Amino acid sequence: MINNIAIRVNEVTKTYKLYDTHADRVKEAFHPLRKKYHRPFNALTDVSFDVNKGETLGIIGRNGSGKSTLLQIICGILQPTSGSVEVNGRVSALLELGAGFNPEFTGRQNVYINGSILGLAHEEIETRFDEIAAFADIGDFIDQPVKSYSSGMVVRLAFAVAISIEPDILIVDEALSVGDEAFQRKCFARIKQIQEKGGTILFVSHGAGTIVELCNKALLIDQGELLTGGSPKQVVSYYHKMIFAPPERIEEMKKEWQGDPNRLNLVWDENEEEKENESEKSSENGVEKKDKEKPAQESFYVPDMSPQSTIYYEKNGAIIDNPHITTLQGKQVNILVNGEEYIYTYSVFFERPAFQVRFGMLIKTVSGFEIGGAATAPIGEGIDYVESATSWCVKFRFRCLLNPGAYFLNAGVLGVVNGSEDYLDRNVDIAMFRVQDNENRTATAIVNFIKHAEVVMVEEETNFDVAQN
Ligand code: ADP
Repeated sequence: MINNIAIRVNEVTKTYKLYDTHADRVKEAFHPLRKKYHRPFNALTDVSFDVNKGETLGIIGRNGSGKSTLLQIICGILQPTSGSVEVNGRVSALLELGAGFNPEFTGRQNVYINGSILGLAHEEIETRFDEIAAFADIGDFIDQPVKSYSSGMVVRLAFAVAISIEPDILIVDEALSVGDEAFQRKCFARIKQIQEKGGTILFVSHGAGTIVELCNKALLIDQGELLTGGSPKQVVSYYHKMIFAPPERIEEMKKEWQGDPNRLNLVWDENEEEKENESEKSSENGVEKKDKEKPAQESFYVPDMSPQSTIYYEKNGAIIDNPHITTLQGKQVNILVNGEEYIYTYSVFFERPAFQVRFGMLIKTVSGFEIGGAATAPIGEGIDYVESATSWCVKFRFRCLLNPGAYFLNAGVLGVVNGSEDYLDRNVDIAMFRVQDNENRTATAIVNFIKHAEVVMVEEETNFDVAQN
């Protein structure tokens, strides 16, 4: 196998035999003329792709699309019916976390058993034991039988063991959706460490945000077929279109996206990314040009800056229109200044009467990370009744605490339909804006929280008073 490839999946098909009844299964097993009583069912059909070393590849698809089957074949737990998989490096898989634990043994004993299954020598586990126990953070339970653990504790311990072997290839299946948020954050941090050390990660999730946040490439599979691959943002937007599309549109969409039936080499992705970069550059040029014309740090508007990832969800009685940002004086802008206040506004036309209506917004980074959102009212306190054929204007006033970069906006209208709250219209990545750079900037990362910073040399006991401003 080529050296820089960590995983090669080659024309993999997995066919299950489906029997209508258990009796059919028995009849087939004992039939003297080997009569068939089953229907073949392809959980995967002719799937091919490569994962390069150092890549984090996300796999996304609806329930039952074949994701787990694929991961199990890559890990060697299942055999493909045809095709092959080559894996180049030490694999640690987080599939069914804790499935390998013996409930009668203590956590400590299970760490040793599991560690040795993963290929660690007894001494190696001994040196890592404290680290594993600290990561799992289950206290004295480590010496209790695993059958007394909560499911969260099992996940913590299993994850701690699986990542302790410093794998070349880490395979994760939804496992991170279990456990509390603080633990999830710790797992993500560990995954980032593995990424930084050049490890390869294969990640299956329903959480589109996680795929965008964590992965540098993504694949979309549906009904066992690999539909397309490319930049996570693009693939996730296809996935969203698919899950919210009317059923009669789905086949048509799948045909549009279906990748090369041979190996999916993801060339499409690179072109797409180039295009994205070019358009980013051109809008950056726009900023530079405007910057020269305008005094520094003034909000302004550049045309030609619109998101390429917009998703319009199915409308359900309302239509969102004309989302944009203005200054407090009402001038439309899309190049913003950190620290200034603005209004994010859109209009909504109601095609039908609506009940308990609330409006929402959300700001995201380029990688899809959700920074902040708001609704016009808490749940249950929306506008009681909105008449049909009326138009409304929604305004969110906000202070831009964001550091330089591009940001994307969502807009949504919620109402109570058949007794439960649902979207009446929803647009994802419907508008975008940039925050200008500032040469005097001291803040880092995404958000500038700091109002005032001060440093004093402490000689004796001095009151350190940063609250004065
Ligand atoms: P996902 O992980 O995307 O939810 P799976 O890989 O678990 O999907 O399943 C893919 C399809 O294969 C599903 O339709 C599932 O019902 C079917 N399947 C999985 N395992 C078996 C099995 N042992 N026998 C028959 N069908 C199976």
